[in-house]
This record gives sequence, structure tokens and C-alpha cells, in this order.
Amino acid sequence: MSESLVVNEIYLSLQGESTFAGLPCVFIRLTGCNLRCSYCDTAYAFTEGKRRSLDEILAEVERSAKRFQVSGFSTPHNLPLVELTGGEPLLQPNSQPLMKRLCDAGFTVLLETSGALDIGLVDARVRRIMDLKCPSSGEVERNRWENLPHLRATDEIKFVIGTVEDYAWAKEQIATHRLAAICPLLFSWVTPLQPHQQDKVLKPVPAGQTPIARLDLVERIIADALPVRFQLQMHKVVWAPDQRGV
Ligand code: SF4
Repeated sequence: MSESLVVNEIYLSLQGESTFAGLPCVFIRLTGCNLRCSYCDTAYAFTEGKRRSLDEILAEVERSAKRFQVSGFSTPHNLPLVELTGGEPLLQPNSQPLMKRLCDAGFTVLLETSGALDIGLVDARVRRIMDLKCPSSGEVERNRWENLPHLRATDEIKFVIGTVEDYAWAKEQIATHRLAAICPLLFSWVTPLQPHQQDKVLKPVPAGQTPIARLDLVERIIADALPVRFQLQMHKVVWAPDQRGV
């Protein structure tokens, strides 16, 4: 099968994060990730998956989208949105032609990426939501700083914040790299993992870090007048925090 991808799951739900939070979205979760963030809640996508052709994937997305096309519901974006997530979608080269075909089909396409791989080849129509990994992830040294010049105003930078040290680090990066001038900045509070989600392969939180409560995070953002958008993972409030396929 030439043009194919290993897919963990495809499902229609609500976009739980980013400036698109709350909108209907078809998620295409691709298998595999080269990082092992301490807070990762999708470790099941590291290895579980099935190879599917791009034609099959596109057909499934079109099926999910059909009901919205007849609803007459008009918004600035064609709904549902389509997001490639993971795992790390860019690990599989065929994620690039898939994104192009989805854009050609008229979808608003989002890409969730760890920020550890080159984002420069992604179709210019795709909204890239790129992490800058904070210290508590255990993967801070994997940030690919060469990605910053590729970012556009339609992209978004996400900091996943679980500790006081993460907050201080994120604040410093915003100032050092003048990130607020590039694109929207997201401060996402880490939802603690359920015991059965604490996969043994994940990195530990580096010693000596202090967990931050979400109220503390919000109060610091306001006190420091940071130009960022605080976010909770909306889908974890609506559904059980460990529910898959939502
Ligand atoms: S980048 Fe980190 S959080 Fe995202 S899938 Fe990989 S290990 Fe999990």
C-alpha cells in the first residue's frame, strides 16, 4: 500500500483545546511518537494502530462531515474541523499528502505537533498547533527551536504547564523569543493522569519541581499580565478524563 498511514483511531468529537475549542472536529490520531512526556495521556497511541490508505482515511472523514454539510449551519470555518494528532503525526511522512488532500477538499485542518520535528514542510493552509515542551515533560531538550521562524499568525504555540518551574520557563521563553508577536499562545494546565494512564515508558517529572494548581496558574498569568490564553482540556471536563475517542 503506497500512500498509507498507521492510524490509531478516527472519531468525531469536540475540539477540546486551542482557539478552536468547542467546535466539532474529526480527529485522526496517528500511531507512534518519538517523545515520552511525563503527562502523556495517549501512550496507547505509541504502538497501537492499523495501516490504512489515504483514500480510506479521507472517505471516513467525509462520512463524518456529511451530516454537517446538510445542516446549513454556517461559520467562518467549514465544520467539522479536521485535526491530525497522535502520537506525533509528522513522524509518518504520508501525513503531509493527507493534510494537503484534506485542505484541497475544503476542510479547516489543524495539526497537533510536539515541536520536536521540522514543521517547515507542512502545507501552508494547515493551522499548526505546536508545543514548546516545558521542563516537567522530561523532554525540554527536544524542542526544535529552528521551527520558530516557520510559524505564522494562523499557528498557535502551546505550553503544557504542570509545575511552578514550567510556568517560569514558559514566561522566560515568551520574553526571550518575543513569542506573543508571532501567534496565539496557549497555557494548558496539565490534567493529572489516572493511575492506569501512568505508563511505565513515560519520563518521570524531573526531581525538585513543584506541582502547580490550576487556580495558581490563572492567578500568576493575571498577576504577570501575560498575553496568553489559559485553557483546560475541555473534553476532560465534559467526559471522564480517561475516556478514549472523545
Ligand atoms: S509528544 Fe508527548 S504528549 Fe504528545 S503524544 Fe508524544 S509523548 Fe504524548
